[in-house]
Amino acid sequence: MALRGRAAIYARQSITREGSASLDVQVEACREAAARLKLDVVAELVEAPSTSGYSNRGRNRPKFGELLDLIRRGEVDCVVAYKTDRLSRGGGPGWAPLVDAFEEAGRDPDRAVATTDGWVSEFEIGIRSAMDREESKKTSDRMQAVRAREAKEGVPRIGGGRPYGYSRDMSEHVEDEVSRIEEAADRVLAGESVWSICTDWNQAGVPTVTGKAWTVQTLTSILTSPRIAGFRTHRGTVVGEGQWKRIIDEDRHDALVAALAPRKSKPRKGRTYPLVGFLVCGKCGGALRSLTRENGGRSYACRKGPGMGGCGGIRIQANGLEAYVRDLICGMLADPVTCAAMAELAPVPSPGLASDALADLQLRRERLIDLYTEGDIDRATFRSRQAKLDDQIRAAEAERASGRADMPSIPSTFEELVTTWEESGIDFQRQLIEILVASVTVNSAMSRRRAFDPHRLSVTLRA
Ligand SMILES: [Zn+2]
Repeated sequence: MALRGRAAIYARQSITREGSASLDVQVEACREAAARLKLDVVAELVEAPSTSGYSNRGRNRPKFGELLDLIRRGEVDCVVAYKTDRLSRGGGPGWAPLVDAFEEAGRDPDRAVATTDGWVSEFEIGIRSAMDREESKKTSDRMQAVRAREAKEGVPRIGGGRPYGYSRDMSEHVEDEVSRIEEAADRVLAGESVWSICTDWNQAGVPTVTGKAWTVQTLTSILTSPRIAGFRTHRGTVVGEGQWKRIIDEDRHDALVAALAPRKSKPRKGRTYPLVGFLVCGKCGGALRSLTRENGGRSYACRKGPGMGGCGGIRIQANGLEAYVRDLICGMLADPVTCAAMAELAPVPSPGLASDALADLQLRRERLIDLYTEGDIDRATFRSRQAKLDDQIRAAEAERASGRADMPSIPSTFEELVTTWEESGIDFQRQLIEILVASVTVNSAMSRRRAFDPHRLSVTLRA
């Protein structure tokens, strides 16, 4: 019996598990179909389960890529699949590369794809792929409806990491973690900062769910999550009571949310890089400079090029870093031990930028007088320039005075500190950083992830 071609079998779990043939059954049926069509099976490509679905459009389907390669290299003449939807990449577009690959290899499109029902014509492929796409979308809609109903009924959302304080299926409390949540809630509602709790816990080796260190973000999201108060959310909104035991009551939940609500930062004016002068490149030891993109994205970077003197090897996004330093400083200031230590610190002689500017203006004013007295400029020019400089000098003096006046009125709770930090502006921020922080070294990113990663930083505090 002469074989009519070399076939690759392609199998994957369908998107809807119910009524889906197991992979073994699929492959077996494909082998039978291949035998019926007198095809020689030269490859069996089986996707690992739990891939695909409309939402990821088949991105994680390595075997589909292998299939395309086999076709392009001319190693197979056709593909046998259990159903046509197995070849869709979450919809019609998956067929385009497949059809292209067959065309590239010069295969007859009417003898390129077979299912257990026989050959699929090119015409049919077009129609089926459009139907697949529609079906996939319906499945996705059905799943959305199921998820919304489950949420209303308070069925726990399971998947991803284990929620802190609960067993994976949320049927039980994890007692150690429950008492940590209660402890943290007590401390926050007593005015303590999340930062100082994290510091304590990290020093004491209190584990997180992932094994990483506690961060303000992690603990804040646990403390403010409706889940620990027994509420089920759907798409970010509470839709009902969860079918699990709460850890804190509703009143405490509301109080925590109020205490830990993110403060909106005011739009910045003028100089917008408060950390310039404090950041050190982890690669070359140079100073990081500000870098503003055309789209407004702000970062700090070790910049190379004329007059820059850096290595060009380090860049970090400004927003994440500034929030980190803010939380660090405010956390330290909210900590009674730091406060006591600060009171004993001799006031840091801080020439600051305001006074630099002032000195510069005063120098220019002296030069202006020289020019006038030596007859280089006329009286009118002198008067107008002098008036302008005087205004600038008064503004600089006021700025310096307000900077001084701000210092004694530092609030004591973390949250108030954060508010003051955001409202008082960059000069105030820089004064506080200068008192507490010697430098922040920014090391290379560990991954290409764009999210802010505090592990890149090494902070040197002032003694
Ligand atoms: Zn550098």
